Amino acid sequence: MTHLHFMPAPDFDPDDELVPHLTRDPSTGLCWPGPTVPEPAFIVLAGFIVDACAEATDGCLVEPDGTCEHGHPSWLRRLGVI
Ligand SMILES: [Zn+2]
Repeated sequence: MTHLHFMPAPDFDPDDELVPHLTRDPSTGLCWPGPTVPEPAFIVLAGFIVDACAEATDGCLVEPDGTCEHGHPSWLRRLGVI
């Protein structure tokens, strides 16, 4: 009998953990449009808070807790940060 030792594939990597997106505005219940630009890195998100200027999920610049004229929330709202 042969014992094969497989390296188990890690199915949970804290470094790769995706932040769940909010898909609708918690205050109005209205669905947000899906992002049209890639999700920024965490360090970029942190910069949004420092700069009090954030990128919306379609690339527009908005206030950190704002929504652009096209209905896209800031990434900070989308990711439930604020
Ligand atoms: Zn926009």
